Amino acid sequence: MNNNFLKEIAKKISSDIAIDLGTANSLVYVRGRGIIISEPSVVAINQKTGQILAIGEEAKRMVGRTPAYIVATRPLVSGVVSDFDVTEQMLRYFIEKACKKNFIFNLRPRLIVSIPVGVTEVEKKAVQDAGKSAGARVVYLIEEPMASAIGARLPVQDAGGNFIVDIGGGTTEVAVISLGGIVTARSLRVAGDRLNEDIIKFAQDEYKLLIGERTAEEIKINIGSAYPLKEKMEMPIRGRNLVTGLPEEITVTDKDIRKALERSVKEIIAAIKITVEETPPELLADIMSKGIHLMGGGSLLKGLNQLITEETKIETKVSDDPLTAVARGAGFVLENIDELQEVLVESDNLEVPKQ
Ligand code: ADP
Ligand code: MG
Repeated sequence: MNNNFLKEIAKKISSDIAIDLGTANSLVYVRGRGIIISEPSVVAINQKTGQILAIGEEAKRMVGRTPAYIVATRPLVSGVVSDFDVTEQMLRYFIEKACKKNFIFNLRPRLIVSIPVGVTEVEKKAVQDAGKSAGARVVYLIEEPMASAIGARLPVQDAGGNFIVDIGGGTTEVAVISLGGIVTARSLRVAGDRLNEDIIKFAQDEYKLLIGERTAEEIKINIGSAYPLKEKMEMPIRGRNLVTGLPEEITVTDKDIRKALERSVKEIIAAIKITVEETPPELLADIMSKGIHLMGGGSLLKGLNQLITEETKIETKVSDDPLTAVARGAGFVLENIDELQEVLVESDNLEVPKQ
């Protein structure tokens, strides 16, 4: 039997997968099946032994409920690989979970991993090596804004411009895409996590109240906003009074939280404006008619699109299902890899795909 024929069969039945290793959430897309895993990007480590105790959902449940020497770390602190071993373990966990069955046939999957824009060659190589030692037979990389634009079915290969703002947990990525490539982009470390920190700081400064990150996130999601709301909202929050040391409940309003978030929101908007200024005029004309597309969990902050529209004079929309855009886009590339090769990252270390 001809070797190529066997390779063709292997290609058909291997569970190729695309992974969005976000700073907050990791999603796994399996070819032919869609997104089958979505878990927090958390790894619980025993600091005494260096042993990894749990990954994902289970690790997140351990946060704050385990002895002090068990710490929950996020392998992708600001969207880049901060710990090679942990990243490899995490990729291995997702690969094994995603293609349990096919490992019986020992068919190593092809893998697409999304990476933030502007990562160094060293970091790209680290992700590829981690993917390979975690069991992939070939590792392709795709930049997150490209993946999310494809996830939103924007015409990334056309000559027009597509303006993407992806607000995740650790980073916000702003990018202009045209002709299958990124024309201009920037990444800033102001995103969802920072907004949570702003709320923690607000409670501390205004009420001497110590609150945890989970509480802060709940407040942000429930009553947080970037633009005045039609209806006023308020919410009770519980924490520990830093002066008395006792538990206390206070009530905060949407206005309080808007003020707490204002500075960080302004930083995000400033990055968008700079990117608009850097956009070549022909593309800008196109973007003015097509608008700015918001992606990532952070884009769900109430009124953010309105504020961006007002500040940039460009109509801004939150993309459908913004939390899954990167994974859906990387998955779409996986399904159509022959037509979409050009959107993948070219790297010095990237092997020519040997299937
Ligand atoms: P990443 O790609 O970095 O993993 P995600 O795109 O998954 O990040 O977004 C996670 C961030 O989105 C978190 O900071 C989370 O608090 C924030 N988020 C999720 N839902 C909302 C919401 N409804 N309002 C505001 N922020 C939200
Ligand atoms: Mg993301």
